[in-house]
Amino acid sequence: MTSLLVSACLLGVPCKYSGGHNGCPKVAALKDRYHLVPICPEQLGGLPTPRPPAECRDGRVFNRAGEDVTDRFAAGAEAALHLAGTLSCQGAVLKSRSPSCGSGAIYDGTFTGTLTTGDGVTARLLKDHGFPVYTEEDVDKIP
Ligand code: SF4
Repeated sequence: MTSLLVSACLLGVPCKYSGGHNGCPKVAALKDRYHLVPICPEQLGGLPTPRPPAECRDGRVFNRAGEDVTDRFAAGAEAALHLAGTLSCQGAVLKSRSPSCGSGAIYDGTFTGTLTTGDGVTARLLKDHGFPVYTEEDVDKIP
């Protein structure tokens, strides 16, 4: 069975910044066709749960307290990329709009709920290395 990386919060793991999850039955149902590999890049990068929310701005990542957490996000992205390669993953299904996992649209760094075009740090790194990235909103497009 082919492997897919999946944002762990979409599988019900309480790894969100708030300590909650984003459990999504459509994503969980992929287990019938794929070996699902749960990852949380922010935890892989060494951040605690719960943690302050963070957003991307000017090529960096800052939490709501104004701390630059770019290095933690980059470390998590590298860990996710390593897993994707080691397990020969076909791609990834990542949580939309997250500063790590978002694909195509992310919050704009103002902490006002405003979206802008762009990818989260992990989604970007995976795409740059040729891995297709889907979100829970386009699960139906996964071949
Ligand atoms: S980093 Fe990704 S997997 Fe972890 S809680 Fe945020 S959206 Fe979910």
